[in-house]
Amino acid sequence: MGRKFFVGGNWKCNGTTDEVKKIVSMLNEAEVPSEDDVDVVVSPPFVFLPIVKSLLRPDFSIAAQNCWVRKGGAFTGEVSAEMLVNLGIPWVILGHSERRLLLNESKEFVGDKVAYALSQGLKVIACVGETLEQRESGSTMAVVAAQTKAIADRVLNWSNIVLAYEPVWAIGTGKVATPAQAQEVHSELRKWLHENAGAEVAATTRIVYGGSVNGANCKELAAKPDVDGLLVGGASLKPEFIDIIKSST
Ligand code: PGA
Repeated sequence: MGRKFFVGGNWKCNGTTDEVKKIVSMLNEAEVPSEDDVDVVVSPPFVFLPIVKSLLRPDFSIAAQNCWVRKGGAFTGEVSAEMLVNLGIPWVILGHSERRLLLNESKEFVGDKVAYALSQGLKVIACVGETLEQRESGSTMAVVAAQTKAIADRVLNWSNIVLAYEPVWAIGTGKVATPAQAQEVHSELRKWLHENAGAEVAATTRIVYGGSVNGANCKELAAKPDVDGLLVGGASLKPEFIDIIKSST
């Protein structure tokens, strides 16, 4: 199907200018597979986007961690999709569970953001995932399908979307989903896309896994047929991120 492997590094709300420069140097010096084989996208906090853009090697790309739901204007504290485009930032992460849960972003609001960001020419890493309670009550698939539906209801063209399955119980907890658990949800999500967005979208949309991915568990996850990449938080700030970039090869 030719779904190119995708590795995202979500730096979250971390770093100083010096630390960011060090991470970028580490990335710039690394020997990694060609960009024909792996898409690498790092996501620094907003304030570091310009410096990372100016220093980062050209075969790696950059994502913002959020953007506003519509055209900019009187929205104090927000950053618009237009501003990211103006800065030359090609990607944005939307719907991360930390924003859904801590900042009460509803699935409809996330769907609106995805649609608006795409309309402005951004590429979107759209995150979905269930909480531990939801998993234990057997509603994992219902939850991720509802979150995906809120996007599918607003978006027809999926070619600029990477779907990230990030179980909330695995994020920042050290409790990674087993490769089998990830594969199960990814294949269900692909089936959902097939039924609701069409065969082409299901075959071509990359579904990546996120949640406590590290240098030790990345290869087994990457080997699963429906795991088309990895979205990495904590380990993306460390040298093991290079091993994760190489995990599909
Ligand atoms: P983690 O975070 O790798 O630190 O668990 C993943 C994410 O939130 O994208």
